Amino acid sequence: MIKIAKIMGNLCLIIVQSFILLAHAEVLPNSKLESPPSIPPGFMPPPLNPNGVELETRELSDGVYALMSNRAFTDNAGFIVGSEAVLVIDSHFNGVMGQQIVDAIKRVTDLPIKYLLNTNAFGDHVFGNYIFPSETVIVAHQSTIDALKASSVSGMSQTMSRTVGGDLSVFDGVQLRVPNLGFDRFWKADLGGRVVEMHWFGPGMSPNDSIVFIPDANIAWTANMIFGRGTIPWARSGDIAGYLQTLQKFEQAFQPKIMVAGHGELATGEILQIYMQYLAEVIASAKLAVASGVSVNEFSDNANINKKYPIANELRMLMTGFHRWNLRLAFSEVSAEHGRY
Ligand SMILES: [Zn+2]
Repeated sequence: MIKIAKIMGNLCLIIVQSFILLAHAEVLPNSKLESPPSIPPGFMPPPLNPNGVELETRELSDGVYALMSNRAFTDNAGFIVGSEAVLVIDSHFNGVMGQQIVDAIKRVTDLPIKYLLNTNAFGDHVFGNYIFPSETVIVAHQSTIDALKASSVSGMSQTMSRTVGGDLSVFDGVQLRVPNLGFDRFWKADLGGRVVEMHWFGPGMSPNDSIVFIPDANIAWTANMIFGRGTIPWARSGDIAGYLQTLQKFEQAFQPKIMVAGHGELATGEILQIYMQYLAEVIASAKLAVASGVSVNEFSDNANINKKYPIANELRMLMTGFHRWNLRLAFSEVSAEHGRY
């Protein structure tokens, strides 16, 4: 009897734990997102509302097209055309934006859209998936697929509501179409005379960030890992030291001459160095602050970005908020290492 009661008790515990996990997963686009102990003053969520956004098609190299948003920091995308097929990078925010991508491709080629790559598990990169033909193979890092399987459109919309000014109508009609082909560290495809690679180097802005690379054009799509010209990184999911290591692995693998970010203007390859230097300095300054006994608020509340990092004027407020967020996270991570947090 006691044994049965114990088994029943354990079973209940498992059911309760599963329910908590499920409830938790429903409101988060992925399972490892963390926030600093408190949101810093001046922090604003990235402005991602796609209403009225137009994607401009820019041919960066023969058959390599960036789709650049006409509004600062709303999502960019892109597509690559081979002699046999087309590959798309990210499907944007919703069906309307996904359709803009499909229409942009049709203006360039009639070839089939064989692949669609999702660079992370955030709604603004995957919510246009459902618009693409059913034959299109959707590819993503396995962690992106796992995160999306544990999510729902309504849960993700709630999480993202502040990024769209509370206007949840932008999610109307969205159906969550989870990628059907997962990869671990590396995937590549030949579109006919044109190879496209997808890499996962480790956690960055989120645990799932993947980089798309076109070797013969030396161009990369960097999604949320590296934003566009005049930005700093945002360690949205914590683990600043891990983010730096990921960028070091990226640099060892290849050095693209052009980076198409998920958000912001086109950048040249030097931005990778800027990001690594910035993250190393954030970690070093947090170590100094913790060692000298200042509080996390003194360290981060009024902090500004060092002038040696060129910040785009229209993104200054947004980047300052990211910077203070990064400082807070670095401070708590360094403190945890010292066993003081
Ligand atoms: Zn993004």
